[in-house]
Amino acid sequence: MKSLVTGGAGFIGSHLVEYLISKDHEVIVIDNLSTGRAQNLDLIRGNKNNVRFVRADVASGDIARYFEGVDYVFHLAALADVVPSIQNPLEYHRANVDGTVRVLEAARTHHVKKFIYTASSSCYGLPSLLPTPETAEIRLEHPYALTKHIGEQYVLHWGKIYHLPVVSLRLFNVYGPRSASAGSYGAVFGVFLAQKLHNKPFTVVGDGTQTRDFTYVTDVARAYYAAAESGCSGEIFNVGSGKTYSINRLVELLGGDKVYIPKRPGEPDCSLADISKIIKYLNWRPAVTFEQGVATLLENIDYWREAPLWTEDSIAEITRDWFRYLG
Ligand code: UDP
Repeated sequence: MKSLVTGGAGFIGSHLVEYLISKDHEVIVIDNLSTGRAQNLDLIRGNKNNVRFVRADVASGDIARYFEGVDYVFHLAALADVVPSIQNPLEYHRANVDGTVRVLEAARTHHVKKFIYTASSSCYGLPSLLPTPETAEIRLEHPYALTKHIGEQYVLHWGKIYHLPVVSLRLFNVYGPRSASAGSYGAVFGVFLAQKLHNKPFTVVGDGTQTRDFTYVTDVARAYYAAAESGCSGEIFNVGSGKTYSINRLVELLGGDKVYIPKRPGEPDCSLADISKIIKYLNWRPAVTFEQGVATLLENIDYWREAPLWTEDSIAEITRDWFRYLG
């Protein structure tokens, strides 16, 4: 089998590539390395040479020719994080919407067997239903959430109009080895692990009682594969652990001092996936507990040695637009 993974040099993408290799897939990675790292692929290739890396931008590069003979397309190339999406909405539209349409077109014209899209649980905004099912109301709080949701609509539309077999996965707070270690202020794990390495206090937002459905990255990689192998098309699935953990619990597991920083507008107090649909249709279940996942991260903490070190002050500065526009 031949799979193409956009964003395959990134955090989740590199874990998916690793999983596909274990399934003896031939893999083509398309990544512009804007946030991904070539080193992520070096780490997982080992002595196998069935991974081909193409440095290209899905939104502008000549990518269609790489889709020849491809069975599955996994589309993970995207820009993440809230603050830069508020500051550079055009860039986000280009990467997340135009990029998705171009990958869809390449997949359609090459008659791939399945197209899997990476959607975001951020589409639920501040949900009134917990656990949150796929049918919950869409509440878009920022341009990142908007662009990922528009991308999902394109994907479902390509499924409907062109009969391209598609599945959209709405991921909940993915964490694990190789999570973001460079660039903008973003997901809590990269921030906290760099702080721990430098013996600085964890910057806990609000009172730390807010909770997230933290989902371990190798479980997520299995969900992509299950979605590709399944007969499902035109479906949306939540991918979450189905459990929710507070930031205070995370701090307890990581161990260290903390400082409290102001609560941000548009952030939910709780995120919790209703995963009954994916269990039923794909027979997928999360396998790694939060405690196991955090322990593995701590074993691999050196990866974040070069990661930016965020402090109370630098976070206040970088999130100014967040409070300004979403407040
Ligand atoms: N968070 C935190 N300190 C930080 C960054 C994030 O306490 O420096 C919290 C944040 O308020 C949220 C949780 O960690 O409750 C997850 O944040 P992340 O940005 O990773 O994901 P999202 O809020 O988009 O679910």
